[in-house]
Amino acid sequence: MPYVEVTVLGSGGVMPTSERLTSSFLVYDWRGYTVLLDAGEGAQIHLHQSPRSVHDIDLILVTHEHGDHVNGLAGLLQSMSVTRREKPLTIAGPKSVVDFARETLEATSGRLGFQVNYLTLEGEGSLLLYEVGGDKLLAKWAPACHTTESLAYRLEWRPRPRIRAEALKSIGIRPGPWISELLRDGEAKIGGAVVRLEDVVEPAKGASITYTGDTAPCESIIELARESTLLIHDSTYSSELEDEAFSRGHSTAEHAALVAGEAGVESLLLFHVSPRYRGYEAWRLYREALALFPKTMLSWDLQRIQVRF
Ligand SMILES: [Zn+2]
Ligand SMILES: [Zn+2]
Repeated sequence: MPYVEVTVLGSGGVMPTSERLTSSFLVYDWRGYTVLLDAGEGAQIHLHQSPRSVHDIDLILVTHEHGDHVNGLAGLLQSMSVTRREKPLTIAGPKSVVDFARETLEATSGRLGFQVNYLTLEGEGSLLLYEVGGDKLLAKWAPACHTTESLAYRLEWRPRPRIRAEALKSIGIRPGPWISELLRDGEAKIGGAVVRLEDVVEPAKGASITYTGDTAPCESIIELARESTLLIHDSTYSSELEDEAFSRGHSTAEHAALVAGEAGVESLLLFHVSPRYRGYEAWRLYREALALFPKTMLSWDLQRIQVRF
């Protein structure tokens, strides 16, 4: 059964506190493919408490170069190196992030012992991360609305269609090697009869997770997040600090909820909580968003969210 799990490594913004580390989310799927979204300071400390290790990460997608999103990178790579990671790692993001990562590693890590591939992203785009057994994972990106060049990301799983056993039974055939031919070509010849894919499969539902990084409410993010299963949206401030939010390229919880509604997503996870909201004060952000978007969650460090599809 396909699933995706999100572990919140850092739910806060601006600077780490004893309650919240800064922005970082670990996303892994049933095939084991693992993506880290941003790498705030101390991300690896919470990663050690998750079911995954630094060796599992295949790709790090970074939104922008502000410290609360990148300061954990050097430590992560150092830990990968000293624990003898072997598989290659890809770090992707805007040019400023890629330059920062490259220069930091050159200055601090010496020989890592594994290959790091850098990928500079800009504007809007899409990349196939894997295609295995008919299952696909794509990464898409679009500009966020922040004070510096920043990208939002969408991870989109498109599992292979599933053959319905009852449909085969009703036309009197048994599963066999011809199934791969059917999935590849859209039809297959079985005992002289032609079976068409649409007659025996149910369309796969798929799932998608959109992560905004830092952003004010943003048209391009509404488009990127369209009908996402989960939208992880900047929610730095409560509504009384709306002016401050917009002038600093951030969102209030209310605006995160409005974006979620406009994009037609299934659920919303608020993050990048300002350090001014201590403990249960952060529930204020949750209540404000909940009043406008019913499937709202407030993120906490080490929270795990599973999406099954
Ligand atoms: Zn930030
Ligand atoms: Zn920022």
